[in-house]
Amino acid sequence: MRQAGMAEFSDQVVVVTGAGRGIGEAIAQAFAAGGAKVAVLSRTAANAERTAAALNEAHPGCAQAFPVDVGDFDAMQATGKAVIEAFGQVDILVNNAGVTRDGLCMRMSEADWDTVLDTNLKGAFNAFRAFQRPLLKSKSARVINIGSVTGIMGNAGQVNYAASKAGLIGFTKSLAREFASRKLTANVIAPGFITTDMTDELTEKQREASQEMIPLKSFGEPEDVARATAFLAGPGGRYITGQVLAVDGGMAM
Ligand code: NDP
Repeated sequence: MRQAGMAEFSDQVVVVTGAGRGIGEAIAQAFAAGGAKVAVLSRTAANAERTAAALNEAHPGCAQAFPVDVGDFDAMQATGKAVIEAFGQVDILVNNAGVTRDGLCMRMSEADWDTVLDTNLKGAFNAFRAFQRPLLKSKSARVINIGSVTGIMGNAGQVNYAASKAGLIGFTKSLAREFASRKLTANVIAPGFITTDMTDELTEKQREASQEMIPLKSFGEPEDVARATAFLAGPGGRYITGQVLAVDGGMAM
């Protein structure tokens, strides 16, 4: 019998966007630990390279860095070509790159709206288009989009972010229906509060108020999201498509 865990993803190529730090980095690590080859995409070259170097140190030859702005359609297609040239296939796409530009709607600049929608929502479309060909050739194609509980519940001060994450749900469900006959599954993971640079921006008061809203009473770790992603990407996710899985300590139930 095949050993569970270690080589679950051997022979598979995974693309993780926003893998330079935070949740994306933890997701990339989980796949590398499972024997996958990992394309580490991130906006800042130094961050992409640092993650890839760490993965290669633990699992020699498994990772390569590809700096790219996911919001730039043409740059993303060029990166797609480079990844396919390097690895020859893509089986799993994790759209994790995301940003916040919080502010009350009445005062939000057009630039802050556009940056968040371009990165969080259009970025997922751009990446799918860049990897659609190899994904449709794969026998176990998986698209996993990292949303947010904010896309389900809304949040004052985050109209741009909530709209982008709610949009990801519609994008994902449509993708799931469009490609079901090709055996490609598409799902959203909706994290709640996870300890990363993104939540480091919260004040102590905001942090306490946030914890009050979480039934499990603590923030999650990037590894909690990584484990859920690996589950959906592995054999456990074979018959699951078009779903939103909250990893949020019970916040959005
Ligand atoms: P971080 O801010 O820690 O990291 C964001 C990552 O996204 C970085 O690697 C960054 O790249 C990358 N990125 C940002 N913009 C772009 C871009 N235009 N092109 C390519 N890469 C980009 O965020 P988290 O790890 O906390 O969040 C990861 C995902 O999880 C996001 O989609 C976020 O919305 C979502 N999420 C996070 C929650 C949390 O509590 N932390 C809660 C709910 C959802 P680089 O470092 O190279 O600049």
